[in-house]
Amino acid sequence: MLNIILMGPPGAGKGTHAAWIERDYKLPHISTGDMFREAMASGSPLGNKIKEIVNRGDLVNDELTCALVKERLSKPDCAKGYLLDGFPRTIPQAEAWDKIAKEIGREVNLVVNISCPDDILVTRITTRRVCPKCGASYNVLTLKPKKEGICDTCGTPLIQRKDDNEASFKVRLANYYSSTAPLLDFYKKKGLLVDFDGTLAVDALKVQLKKLLASKR
Ligand code: ADP
Ligand code: ZN
Repeated sequence: MLNIILMGPPGAGKGTHAAWIERDYKLPHISTGDMFREAMASGSPLGNKIKEIVNRGDLVNDELTCALVKERLSKPDCAKGYLLDGFPRTIPQAEAWDKIAKEIGREVNLVVNISCPDDILVTRITTRRVCPKCGASYNVLTLKPKKEGICDTCGTPLIQRKDDNEASFKVRLANYYSSTAPLLDFYKKKGLLVDFDGTLAVDALKVQLKKLLASKR
């Protein structure tokens, strides 16, 4: 069984690789970013509060985030494995998840880290376009859709995320280094961490990830 955490700074390629891993390995892809964006789109008071936090690049509080993930991961489709993307993002979240995962019998057994230098990240993020309907990710320089501005998979017009601007990105990156990067050591000590080079082209990294996943199956 594969209970995977995908880690890496914003723009490293987590979402892009999560999409094919979900398909090929039939693992539910659980992205806290997507879950928060859904809440933001609902227009509820909580959604509006989350919108403010996310759009400026800050982190949603640990308690709310953990509660959301616990509810999602307790569902039957996660009993045969899962792919967590964007969670845990802080040490308190990782510690909380350790405990919850034990309780519900869904302990993490692999942490995939995709690393990438800052200057490449900022370019990727500010040129990224996403499908608001199916979540597919594109890039106006390197990963163009077949028809400009339109999602290949579902035909929906692509958008730029409100937090994919340089100012919000700076906040996200600072939060990554202060709050999320310490998790690498946390999982390394548990012997779960495997590192990958996020500067590689999508296809090249995919080959390497496939090798690892095949060896764990
Ligand atoms: P990226 O990895 O590209 O920065 P995500 O889509 O994973 O973006 O997340 C978008 C935003 O959602 C984050 O910047 C943060 O505000 C919020 N968020 C996502 N996951 C978490 C988490 N585990 N804890 C707190 N906030 C989160
Ligand atoms: Zn789409």
